[in-house]
Amino acid sequence: MKVVSMSSGQSSLTSESPPPSNESNATGRRVLVVGGGLAGLAAASRLGRTGYQVTLVESRNKLGGRATSFVDPTTGEMVDNCQHVSMGCCTNLADFCETVGIARLLQTVRTLYFQDEKGRVSTMRAAPLPAPLHLFPSFLSAKYLTLWDKIRIGWGMLSLMWSPPRLNVPFDEWLLSHGQTPRTIDRFWGLVLVSALNETIDRMDFRYARQVFVEGFLQNGRAFYVEIPSVPLGQFYGSLLESWLVENGILLKMGTAISKLKFDRGRIIGAELKDGSTIDADITVLAVPHHRVRDLFPTADVERDHSIPQLDYIETSPITSVHLWYDRPVMDYPHLVGVGRTVQWLFRRTGDEGGYVQAVISASRELSSHSSDEILSIIRAEVEEMLPKAKEATLKHSRVVTERRATFSVLPGIDHFRPDARSVIPGLVLAGDYTQTGWPATMEGAVRSGYLAAAAIRKETEGVNVTLVSPLRAGWLFRLLGGRN
Ligand SMILES: Cc1cc2nc3c(=O)[nH]c(=O)nc-3n(C[C@H](O)[C@H](O)[C@H](O)COP(=O)(O)OP(=O)(O)OC[C@H]3O[C@@H](n4cnc5c(N)ncnc54)[C@H](O)[C@@H]3O)c2cc1C
Repeated sequence: MKVVSMSSGQSSLTSESPPPSNESNATGRRVLVVGGGLAGLAAASRLGRTGYQVTLVESRNKLGGRATSFVDPTTGEMVDNCQHVSMGCCTNLADFCETVGIARLLQTVRTLYFQDEKGRVSTMRAAPLPAPLHLFPSFLSAKYLTLWDKIRIGWGMLSLMWSPPRLNVPFDEWLLSHGQTPRTIDRFWGLVLVSALNETIDRMDFRYARQVFVEGFLQNGRAFYVEIPSVPLGQFYGSLLESWLVENGILLKMGTAISKLKFDRGRIIGAELKDGSTIDADITVLAVPHHRVRDLFPTADVERDHSIPQLDYIETSPITSVHLWYDRPVMDYPHLVGVGRTVQWLFRRTGDEGGYVQAVISASRELSSHSSDEILSIIRAEVEEMLPKAKEATLKHSRVVTERRATFSVLPGIDHFRPDARSVIPGLVLAGDYTQTGWPATMEGAVRSGYLAAAAIRKETEGVNVTLVSPLRAGWLFRLLGGRN
């Protein structure tokens, strides 16, 4: 895979042949990575192989952070907190999975199924046409949109493709000023964006909404492929990954939480652990969620980097998943995207009796005033409307999981509060999906942040420029039609 130089933005190196590291500068440098989510893991994966002495501490007894599973006490099954999916355009996540040997646990889905309120199913798959036309035939045949909707949306798409990547306007306003109606917003733009960005259309920065369509659907024919782990997340980011880290010289300290960063004359020199012991380090990569960062600073030191107090302005958005175990298989499709429904995605999981399905509701604020039982009955009723076989089956068990701070909100202007990897505090580097990655809160964003943190360290220590994996190339027709990226 290509990687690009951070300073020039030009493709310069390949990750199969990493740049020669200046061993004398890297070797022996002690790097403490705090947090075993994808950001911390990605940073450790890049540094461990290039001569740094990396220690990764994770407060829980498992890796993966928010991309996680738990053992359901009733079924004994390993259940995801929520189905996590990525897309073909997530090139850094793909590189990470390839590097650490878990890419073979991913399934690539090339056909997506949409079901409207009348039960009609429309498929989305690529035709043998150059991007951005590859999805055009599927779009034309979508049963949940009228011809007028399609004409409006087509105009909106072209306008989006031609528009500059950043505009200082909330996305809903932009849509309304480009021929869209509440109906096309609800049945098309929102359908894609609410689950991709975990936010409602009225609370989205233009830049991120545009990025989903341009990078995910328009510029490359493979970008919209969906990648789904074929095993629960706890297994996906489990023993294979752990073994790779250990084999590559990374010291893993699980079940180990840091309580405070350690300062010495304005420089961070490691961290104190909750058990009272300390870990000394030359460089500390703080890869915890943004709402945990401030508390890890001694009060007197929190203002040393103005970006830390600003993290308080970053809002979060919840995701709810509802897990239903029926006594028999109930779902014919591997997944369904719900049009005009509360359920946005419905996934067929296997389960012991083949009847386990999982419904996902992103940006689920509207459900927050309901109890778990109420959420269950709302979602179960929808699922049984969507899947006639579920009506005939017996629901044996269910679970409602709401992650209240699932992701940060991509509110207009959010970039102002996202800090760079390199802190002004010597010895400190920040990582995490919330940092300046150019991406929304996703696994791809988290991996990018970890790679950027590693790049900042290598730049400072060794003077080497290495950073992100290139995005998928924009197709010739996309460029010929004036598409901007
Ligand atoms: C319900 C849900 C659904 C999602 N769906 C998707 C999806 O489909 N696709 C997608 O791409 N993304 C999805 N995401 C987003 C994705 O999971 C996150 O963006 C990504 O995992 C964040 O990684 P991170 O490393 O930045 O942070 P985290 O995963 O939060 O990792 C931070 C780690 O730091 C540890 N930690 C915290 N404090 C300390 C301490 N004091 N000492 C030591 N360790 C500490 C935590 O235990 C955690 O493991 C979803 C998230 C949620 C919650």
